[in-house]
Amino acid sequence: MEPWQKSLEQSITTTEELAGRFAFDAEQLRAVVQRYPMRITPHYLSLIEEPGDPIWRQCVPDPRELATDELLPDPLNEAGLSPVPGLIHRYPDRVVLLVSTTCAMYCRFCLRKHQVGCVGIATDLDRAIDYIAETPAVRDVVLSGGDPLLLSDDLLERILARLHKIPHLEIIRIGSRTPVTLPDRITPELCRMLRQYHPLYVNTQFNHPREITAASAAACTMLADAGIQLGNQTVLLKGVNADPAVMKQLMQRLLTIRVRPYYIHQMDLVQGTGHFRTSVETGLAIMGGLRGHTSGMATPYYVIDAPGGKGKVPIVPEFLERRGGKLLLRNYLGEVIEYPDIDG
Ligand SMILES: *Cc1c(COP(=O)(O)O)cnc(C)c1O
Ligand code: SF4
Repeated sequence: MEPWQKSLEQSITTTEELAGRFAFDAEQLRAVVQRYPMRITPHYLSLIEEPGDPIWRQCVPDPRELATDELLPDPLNEAGLSPVPGLIHRYPDRVVLLVSTTCAMYCRFCLRKHQVGCVGIATDLDRAIDYIAETPAVRDVVLSGGDPLLLSDDLLERILARLHKIPHLEIIRIGSRTPVTLPDRITPELCRMLRQYHPLYVNTQFNHPREITAASAAACTMLADAGIQLGNQTVLLKGVNADPAVMKQLMQRLLTIRVRPYYIHQMDLVQGTGHFRTSVETGLAIMGGLRGHTSGMATPYYVIDAPGGKGKVPIVPEFLERRGGKLLLRNYLGEVIEYPDIDG
C-alpha cells in the first residue's frame, strides 16, 4: 500500500472519532453523516485549530445540511446535459468526464454532494470515451468526479492514454483537491506518468490561506516541475473566505507556490449547502479588493455558474460607464477617467 492510501485509511469518518479530538456536540451530527459521508484526512485534520474555524467548516458536517429549502440536488442540470452517464457536455468544445466517485476529503459545500461518496456516479467509461472520440467538436476534456487522483496511477493512466490518442482532443485537464487535502498523493511516480500526457493541466482548489502548507507547496512544486500548469478554483464560502483580506492573501500566496488563480466560484444552489452562501455583493467587494490592488495574475474571474446549466458567467465590478458618446473608466481607486472610443 502506498503512503497516500494509508493516509486515506487513517482518515476520520465518524463523529465519534472526531469527538475524541475536539469538544463539540457529536450527537447532533450523526444524522448528517448518515446522509452525506464525512472523510477527513490526517493532513487536513492537522490544519484544524478549533471547532468552527475555516478548515473545520469545510470538512465537518453541520446540522444545516439537512435543512429543507428550495435548493436542488442538481441545480446545474448536469444529469440532463449528459449524453452518456458521467459525461457532461454543456459547452460546444469541451466536456467534463466524471472518473471517480470518491474524494480524499468530502467538502461540505460540494456541488455534487448528492453523488460524491454516496450512491456513486454510474459513469460508463467506455461509452464516454467513445463519445469523445466520435465528437470532433470536443477539443478539451476535464477529468473530475469525485477526485480523479483517487484512482490508482495505473487506472488513471489507462484513461489518459485512451484520451491522449484521440486526435481532435487538444488538451486534458484534471481537477483535483488532493494537493490540499492529501498532498502525499502527489508522488514522483505519478508526476512521471502524468508528464507523458501533455498538454495536461491541473486545477486544484485552495479555499483558505491556512491550506497552503509545506506539504501542499511540495505537492504543487512536484506537479509544476513536471511541466504541468496549475490553476486554482476557489469556492466563495461564508465563514471561510468571504473576506477581501483573506481572499487577497490566498491569491497572493497561491502564486508563491506556482498556482495561478483561475476562478472564484459563487456557491451553486445545491441542496444542503445553503449555509455557505454569500451575496453577490460580497463577491464583488472581494473582486474590488483584488483588481489593481495586487498582481493581475492574482486576480481570477469571479463566476456564477448559471442555474439550469446555462454556463459560467463572469461577474465584474463596474469599471465602465457610457455617458453620451463618452466612455468613462473607473479605476481601482474609484477615479473616473475618460476614454476616447471610436466607432466600429
Ligand atoms: C466549468 C465547466 C467546464 C469548463 O469550463 P471552463 O470555463 O472552460 O473552465 C466545462 N463543462 C462544464 C459542464 C463545466 O461545469
Ligand atoms: S474535492 Fe471537489 S468533488 Fe470532492 S468533495 Fe470537494 S468539492 Fe466535491
